[in-house]
Amino acid sequence: MRGLAGEKTLLKRLNRAAILRLVWEQPGVSRSGVAQTIGITKSTVSQLVAELHDEGWLSSDLPDVGSTPGRPSIPLHLNAGALALIGVELGVEGINAVAVDPRGQVLARAHAAGQHATVAGALTALEGCVATLRRSAPLRARTVLGVGVGVPGPVDVARGMLLHAPNLGWRNIALQRMLDERLGGLGRVFVDNDANLAVFAEYMFGAHRHSADLLYVYISDGIGGGLILGHGLYRGRVGFAGEIGHINVLPNGPRCSCGSRGCAETLFSWRALHATVRGHTGRDLEPCELRAAVDAGDRALHALVTQAGKHLGLFLGTLANVFDPKVLIVGGPITDLSRLILEPAQAEMQRRMFGAEFRSVQLERCAFSTDACAIGAAGYAFHALLQNKTDDLPRLLETTLH
Ligand SMILES: [Zn+2]
Repeated sequence: MRGLAGEKTLLKRLNRAAILRLVWEQPGVSRSGVAQTIGITKSTVSQLVAELHDEGWLSSDLPDVGSTPGRPSIPLHLNAGALALIGVELGVEGINAVAVDPRGQVLARAHAAGQHATVAGALTALEGCVATLRRSAPLRARTVLGVGVGVPGPVDVARGMLLHAPNLGWRNIALQRMLDERLGGLGRVFVDNDANLAVFAEYMFGAHRHSADLLYVYISDGIGGGLILGHGLYRGRVGFAGEIGHINVLPNGPRCSCGSRGCAETLFSWRALHATVRGHTGRDLEPCELRAAVDAGDRALHALVTQAGKHLGLFLGTLANVFDPKVLIVGGPITDLSRLILEPAQAEMQRRMFGAEFRSVQLERCAFSTDACAIGAAGYAFHALLQNKTDDLPRLLETTLH
């Protein structure tokens, strides 16, 4: 049985974790704001904040002298100079790894280009990227709180299994165990689907920070979705939620890799549009080159891009009818076409939405470009640590930063 001293220690750990969580949610919160929100006395808050400050978890701004009479309140912040998170995208084209501070500012980057023939080869390259980040100057003085890894396929998070990554040719890989073995000692490692993690770049660090519901559509060679509903990631029963690339948009459309016809991926993934454009021009155009050609007056290319935008809008209208979100965020290389594709998509989406006279859904381009998955993976690791009320964060807090 846990004695009274043990109970007190546990309570203290939980209160320390609750303070950190609140300071992240409300940067600049005062000690009295903490006391009110958490429901503990001001003197306890002052004592715990002083400890967290001395240990390097928190920093304080100088008092805002002159604003209010009496004792000025001191805004509290997480100590961005002492903490870091690592996020990795293990993608089809290679590995993109970043280290960020608790505000999402990128501190260091590492890349490994090219597809790796084996899982072991890919993980060795990933380990190398993480080691490069660890050696970088900004990370030498920081504590890494956790690591997030995004992969291009559904993940059964409860079992730590990557179920299927068709573009890598991987199936049933015990990725969580393998990553724990290789990255042990860097805090907890979280692995999940790439689009599931990309939405956390916006949720943790973006313009829609802390929105209760966010929908993110990632359009690259494939199309994936990340759904945050009621502040939580929605994965579905096994991990297949958000596999929106195979929503049917055109019943007798082009044949899809999944065996069906006219899936979203066959119509407006970057791979599909790129192939259509190559068929038309005989050239491999990057999104920015395609945009330049349309802007220069190529009407046939303009029509192709507009048609892709309309199909995208029809598809987004379906998502808007299911989820009724405030904002839909679109990311991936196709968004480099910018208004050329997003304007017809927005117009078509509004047309397809039920009850459009009562609501509008804002279509926005992801602010994190090609780093969305890696930054989101770091953000997810941070979110998971902050939200785990009884285990990770209190335990992390027992490690001394300096
Ligand atoms: Zn399909």
